[in-house]
Amino acid sequence: MGRYTGAVCRLCRRQGEKLFLKGTRCQTEKCAAAKRAYPPGQHGKGRRQKLSNYGVQLKEKQKVKRIYGVMEKQFRIYFKIASKTKGVTGKVLLQLLERRLDNVVFRMGLGVSRAQARQVVRHNLIAVNSRRVNIPSFLVDKDDVVEIKAKDKAKAKIKDNLELSKDRTVPAWLEFDASLMKAKVLRLPEKGDIQQPIQEQLIVELYSK
Ligand code: SF4
Repeated sequence: MGRYTGAVCRLCRRQGEKLFLKGTRCQTEKCAAAKRAYPPGQHGKGRRQKLSNYGVQLKEKQKVKRIYGVMEKQFRIYFKIASKTKGVTGKVLLQLLERRLDNVVFRMGLGVSRAQARQVVRHNLIAVNSRRVNIPSFLVDKDDVVEIKAKDKAKAKIKDNLELSKDRTVPAWLEFDASLMKAKVLRLPEKGDIQQPIQEQLIVELYSK
């Protein structure tokens, strides 16, 4: 199955909460999840039913996949790596997602949403340790330096994104220099660095069945 290309606001409405997939629009009264707090579709209004345990776990997994824009296959790979890594599986899983280069670019504010940050990476505008990397799933490590490597026109566009994202806080695991649009990974991210509420143990339970 390919990447979801439909209206992203529907994903929030189906999830029943704001996933902040559209950048600045998510903070405005135009947010569809706030305006129409029921599932999308013709019968959406009367469709919110009580979920089983399995349903709750599945929903939490969908939520995390949607937030990070990761497909099932890749998500399973992350889970496999997390379960084989020393530490608490759920927390390692979140750490892997946070370490993705598209997420780092988003956290730096160089894209207003993760989808836009992914485009910035794909367009070959990012360097890690002075080498261009155009793979959104590339995992950054401690002491890596992530920066813009773009011509003036593209740089100006990214500067606009930065301006639009200025109300977002850059997480403490990144040391960010806004004037250079450059960040250093001070340490690996932890659960506490993620503002959105995620119950990662539900995902672990789901995959451990
Ligand atoms: Fe979700 Fe943002 Fe759309 Fe609101 S505006 S429904 S938070 S993507």
